[in-house]
This record gives sequence, C-alpha cells and structure tokens, in this order.
Amino acid sequence: MPGPIEKLRNIGIVAHIDAGKTTTTERILYYAGATHRMGNVDDGNTETDFDPEEAKRGITIYSAAVTCRWKECTINLIDTPGHVDFTAEVQRSLRVLDGAVVVFSAVEGVEAQSETVWRQADEYKVPRLCFINKMDRIGANFENVLDQIRKRLGGNPLPLFLPIGSEHDFLGIVDLIGRKALYFDSETQGKNITEEEIPDDLKDQAEEYRQKLVETIAERDESAMETYFEEGDLPDETIHKLLREATLAGDIQPTFTGSALDFVGVQPILDGVNRYLPSPLDVPPVHGINPKPKKNQSAEITRGPSNDEPLAALIFKIVADKHADLCFVRVYSGVLKSGSRLLNPRTGKKEFCSQIWHIQADQREKIEIDLVEAGDICGVIGPKDIVTGDTLCPTTDPILLESIHFPETVISMAV
Ligand code: GDP
Repeated sequence: MPGPIEKLRNIGIVAHIDAGKTTTTERILYYAGATHRMGNVDDGNTETDFDPEEAKRGITIYSAAVTCRWKECTINLIDTPGHVDFTAEVQRSLRVLDGAVVVFSAVEGVEAQSETVWRQADEYKVPRLCFINKMDRIGANFENVLDQIRKRLGGNPLPLFLPIGSEHDFLGIVDLIGRKALYFDSETQGKNITEEEIPDDLKDQAEEYRQKLVETIAERDESAMETYFEEGDLPDETIHKLLREATLAGDIQPTFTGSALDFVGVQPILDGVNRYLPSPLDVPPVHGINPKPKKNQSAEITRGPSNDEPLAALIFKIVADKHADLCFVRVYSGVLKSGSRLLNPRTGKKEFCSQIWHIQADQREKIEIDLVEAGDICGVIGPKDIVTGDTLCPTTDPILLESIHFPETVISMAV
C-alpha cells in the first residue's frame, strides 16, 4: 500500500527535448528505488545494483506511471511526452498529475516548447518546481535561465540552491535554507554527499539570495513578517511551510540546480517534491457529469479524494503490451478493486478489471495489488472497449469525468 494519501505525490517531469528529462527521471528512480529497497540512502553507504541500461528499458516500457518511494512519501511519476506534437497527450497527463518538475537546460534555457508546456501547466494550475540542469556544460548560465523563466514564462522562480561554479568548474550546490555547500561524488553515482561550509567567494551571494528567499515568503504571512523584522530570519520549518503554501498557490516555483548526468542536485529535488508539491488532498475535487440524471437531479457531480465516495477513475493512457492492453488509471475518488465490473459511461458497457497493479521503480515490474485507493494511480488489465479519456465507475453511481479538451480527432483534423 502506498501509505496515507497526504504522503502521496502524483507528479510529472516536463521538459523541452534534450533538457535532461530522461536523465533526471533515471536519477530519481535510482535514488527512490534504492531508498525503497535499502531503507536509506542518506547515510551514503547504500549499495545498489543500479544499471543505467536496465533503468532506460524500464522507463521506456513502463514509463506511463512508475511508483517510487522517497523518505516518507510515495511518488507516482507520470510520463509527460516531450515532443510538441503530442500536445494533446501533454494536456491529458497534466490533468492527471498534481504537481510537476520542469527541467531546463542551463545552456539552452527556456525554449519554445517550454513555453507551451508552462502555459498548459498554468491553465491546469499545476504547482511546479524548476530544475536548472546541465550546470557542467559549456555555456551554462544559471542567472540567465532564471531571467528567462521570469520574462518569457511569467514565472516566479525562487532559488533554494545556487550552483558552485559552472561548466568544467561546476563543483556542487549551495543549500540556501540549510546554509551549507553540498558536494556530490559522481564516482559513487552521487551516493556520497559531503556537506561543507559555503565557499568564501560565494558567502555574500548566498546570503543575499537567502534574504530574498525569506523575505519573499515572509510577505505572505503577518506573524512570519513580524518574526522576520525582529530577528532578521525565520526558522527552517516556517520557511518550508510558507514555501509549500506559496508553491501550492502557484505564486512561486522553488528552483533547484545541478547536473543530473553527474548525479548532482537530484536528491534535493526529491526532498522538494515531498515538501512543496501537493498531495491529492491539496487539489480541487474533480468535476464530472451524471450521464443519466434523474428528474430534479443535477447533472453536475463533484468528487473528492476520499475512499468513502463512489469510485471515479479516469483512463489516461493505454499501452499495448505482449498479452493485453495495459490501461493507466487515476482514481479520483473511491476504491478500485481487482475483479470488479465497472461501467464505462461513454459506451454504456461494463468492463471487467481482472488485474490491477503498480510499477515499482526498484523492481521495474508490474506488482499486482488487490485495490487502489482514492488519489492513487495504477495500471489495469481487462477493460476492452475503451479509449483514453474514458471513465470507469460503478453502475450504481455513474459519472462521466470532464472530457479532455483536445481529443485525437481534433488534432488530426488540425494537421
Ligand atoms: P531529454 O530529451 O529531455 O529526455 O534529455 P536526456 O535526459 O535524454 O538528455 C539529453 C542529453 O543531454 C543526453 O546526452 C544526456 O546524457 C545529456 N545530459 C543530461 N543531463 C546532463 C547534465 O546534467 N550534464 C551534461 N553534460 N549532459 C547532460
């Protein structure tokens, strides 16, 4: 079981092609898979059998939704297509996820496709973290990318980390909240992280950025502002709490940096996902319509992320596998049990859900489960007469979840 719903994160990693989405995803699965299996990678002693080739295979086969664990949270990583031609698919996945990590290349910065995806994420009110990747590459420029996110995307990136050096001299990152420098040992695939004092030549800049960070979020809260005025600082816990509120409101995007290729800066992103991105409880309830409302009954239905509500599940992706179609489902409310017969209100037919499962990051395998609770994502085998965007629900409580704005037919007509 994934654990309590408030510790569940349904997130996507979105990026312009080549910015490093695959590499960042691999690193996340590596760390999160290792935590799940070994219990803890924080002590730096964890032995893993990480095999990049295997990871890649796992990602391409089961990329639609992979479940991993990081510390106290369960993270469902939902694939978002990287290519602009798949705008309808991007939209569909943005609807299904609760938060996103947007990866930018520190060299190329904001590109046309990033603008499209950013606007779509705005439209669906998806809270975001930013990751400025490839700090080790020639031409990397952290400040430039921050500036572009502000000017071209209208975003409000708030750096929580600063790069130490750049290009060949990129060495690590400064943690502005923890006030320390972090160096990642790429020989051990980033397992060993050394904490040191912030280098002298970065101290002033780090302090300036930290002040900016604290001031920005203190402004959101009167008592925090008072503390900040009196003491010139805020306790870490208050900073995290206010950062979370500001991120969920869409007012800021906590911003991370590093080099995914060298394993630098990826663990802080995972901490950021746990701390600042929403759980299914933090997002508005889903809307749908009753396909056959009785007299005097409203056709509109709202369902919250509770096991006690009737089941409402959305099929967001269908992947052909060797033996059967795998459909990927988000359970917005209620509980989805294996062996159940559910209505597809679009066709009026019942579909049999013979198996449900999660893809576990550490095993890269389908793990069969008995039930999936509200808020979670899973794979289902069995339904036959289905297309992406279909709803599965009980016959006794039918609901048609909002249809997606851009069905494939519209796209093909537009081409
Ligand atoms: P995607 O298209 O966004 O999925 O990007 P990939 O993860 O496939 O990365 C594109 C290329 O950039 C690959 O050759 C990666 O090895 C490389 N790359 C990714 N991250 C980094 C990084 O932090 N530093 C450097 N130097 N190369 C990177």
